[in-house]
Amino acid sequence: MTESDSTDSSTGTRGKMQRWINQLIQLQDLIFARDQQQVSAAGARLSSLETSIQTLEKELPIEVQTHFVRLHNKGGLAIVPIANGVCSACGMAIPVSQVHAVHAADKLYHCPSCARFLFYQGTAPRRLSKQRLRSEPAQVGLARFSSPQLMIPHLAGAEMEEVIAELSGRMESEGFVDNAALLTEEALKREAITSTGVDQGLAFPHVRGVEGGGLTLALGVSRKGVRFGDNKTLSRLIFFMVIPTAASAFYLRLLSGLTKSFREEESRDALFKAETPEDLWKALIKTTRATIS
Ligand SMILES: [Zn+2]
Repeated sequence: MTESDSTDSSTGTRGKMQRWINQLIQLQDLIFARDQQQVSAAGARLSSLETSIQTLEKELPIEVQTHFVRLHNKGGLAIVPIANGVCSACGMAIPVSQVHAVHAADKLYHCPSCARFLFYQGTAPRRLSKQRLRSEPAQVGLARFSSPQLMIPHLAGAEMEEVIAELSGRMESEGFVDNAALLTEEALKREAITSTGVDQGLAFPHVRGVEGGGLTLALGVSRKGVRFGDNKTLSRLIFFMVIPTAASAFYLRLLSGLTKSFREEESRDALFKAETPEDLWKALIKTTRATIS
């Protein structure tokens, strides 16, 4: 574990470090939100996100800022939680005493292996392994990330909070994750940064930094439509994803594939026609065959 050479001992109080850590996490979230807006082609919010990113960057000490940008340019994540004693990005085991040091947050610490900033995460929702995805041979496309049990052809909720709770609740009741309440809370925090609702009635609420397992997707269809943020169009196809830290970059590719598929009216209609979870599942697999490999 190396201390950040940027930490000035005269200002190395826990409060200040914790503030920087929070700021780095928020900055990373904003950058992901911007990348998401870019792939889902919702240009309107880009400039305000860009402004927030620049403001946050400027508030950081220059060395921290430089290291953050360098890590981000290298491959996405620049600050990651320690999960079960390991760096959640590269898997390097962190000695217990140093886990405590990261928790104490008296300095900014880096992973000794991948050099990413580390932070301590109290409770994170977990992806459970007891519920396996269908074990038919040679899983391809979306079948690697979802399952007929995670399809809700008729969402009951009329508000964003309600439909997100329905989707995360389904993931929990089917044994894919624990703590649906925490997932919902985290997804709403993400919506508060910038809405994941995009054109054509699509929305991609999600939670990153989930512990363990792979990326998981649940799909809900709202017949009446639900308002995400200040979007003018209501969202009708709601793709809820939980994303482990290691899958963060892959998530953007998946998002891009989904956006591409459902920009087509024909594909959206195929999902609206589905009345049962099985039918919705079949329609989803069929419509994404060309875009998600
Ligand atoms: Zn690492």
